[in-house]
Amino acid sequence: MKLKERIYFRSPLVVQQLLTVLQGYLFYKQRYGPVYEQRFNELIEKEGRTVDVAAEQLESLNEFLAFCKEHSDYYKELFDTHQITLPLPDLDALKNIPILEKETLRAENERVHTDIHAPLLAKTGGTTGTSLHVHYTKEDMQRGMAHLDYFKYKHGVRKGMRRASFTGQVLISKGQKKPVYWRMNPSLNQLLFTIKQISPRTIPYYIARLNEFKPESIDGMPSGMIEVARYAKRHGIRLTIRPRAIFPTAEMITAEERALLEEVYHAPVFDQYASSEGAPIVAECPYRRKHLHYEMGIIEVIEEGEILVTSFDTHGTPLVRYRIGDRMTMSKETFCPCGHPGPIVESIDGRGRSFLLMEDGHKVFEGELAGIVRILPNCIERVQYIQERQKEVTFLYVPDQSRFKPEHEKQLHFVLRRLFGPEMKINAHPVEVIPQEASGKTLLIKQKIPHEKARAN
Ligand SMILES: [Zn+2]
Repeated sequence: MKLKERIYFRSPLVVQQLLTVLQGYLFYKQRYGPVYEQRFNELIEKEGRTVDVAAEQLESLNEFLAFCKEHSDYYKELFDTHQITLPLPDLDALKNIPILEKETLRAENERVHTDIHAPLLAKTGGTTGTSLHVHYTKEDMQRGMAHLDYFKYKHGVRKGMRRASFTGQVLISKGQKKPVYWRMNPSLNQLLFTIKQISPRTIPYYIARLNEFKPESIDGMPSGMIEVARYAKRHGIRLTIRPRAIFPTAEMITAEERALLEEVYHAPVFDQYASSEGAPIVAECPYRRKHLHYEMGIIEVIEEGEILVTSFDTHGTPLVRYRIGDRMTMSKETFCPCGHPGPIVESIDGRGRSFLLMEDGHKVFEGELAGIVRILPNCIERVQYIQERQKEVTFLYVPDQSRFKPEHEKQLHFVLRRLFGPEMKINAHPVEVIPQEASGKTLLIKQKIPHEKARAN
């Protein structure tokens, strides 16, 4: 544990609150500055104007590639070896640059890093369990924040409005007796609710605090929001809040969960795709279409729907055609009544290693697996698939005690068997809760087959 954290957890509640205020202020200074303002205003000024997306992207791309060549040993050598001449004549020429694999980024981390000052660090899970280090500049961070805020702005949410965030951070010391599972960050008028303490015993306090705070938007990890919502619904407790929008992050949500959140919190849900490596964001507009914020970079879809990410705001650890491990389907539509000119993403099909490997090597992704609870509506709250061997799947499910009947269990086994075929060994277990990861995330799929084996299939 870092010194900062040790001090925090040994401090009394009131000091912890003060440290949260300070930390929030430091983050604020980092994330909201002149570069943020400039990009945010540009995005607003551009509205309603006709833009040539491809031309704009090509210009940003060439500027970025020139930067990579000048400041990163890895890219300089890569471009020289493959005779990449800059500037590229068109976006299609990007395909001549070799793909950046996660393994390369991990093994050659130092050489990919640029020689400029990029003090912000993000750690992200590598494919083999080792973590990747990705550096950013303050300006990268600010541009990213501008896009995120612009996305919220399109849904009527502005910086400074009362905001409730469900976070995976541990905010509460072990010994704390008072039922205060949140900390206030006044710089952003943000009340941080930790999802680590959510349980049937504590949820009534969360609900009371939400009702009292009256957030104008809710964001953060949906698994926490969902647990609170389920409890409220089951016990007939009304949330009196009327936020303008809910913005889930980091975890996938199913259509049922989305409907539940909208019903209980009385607000529409708008989803987004982002990553800790710094991929360009894809975010839902009021017409529920997912637009790529094309000013931030380029997403190419290759085989099996896998995406390659080129991100213009990664000046510390540049990502050019980076195989991030996620999957998308691009839409054929090119027009949206909201006026956003960015390419439309039909669906986000899977994140990272969120798939199950069938016997024949076929992969089944999140979208399909999330749907299983649809067959047994309202009697299963949450599920998790764990795969450690190719011929075996462990299926954990949280039954809704008041609704789940013995015949449902039979039905469930039938559905699983149909999904996985006759050869797969299926271990289905009812559980009280799906355990959280260290990050606070609850995963739908835990793929534990060693990476090399899964890849070979
Ligand atoms: Zn739109």
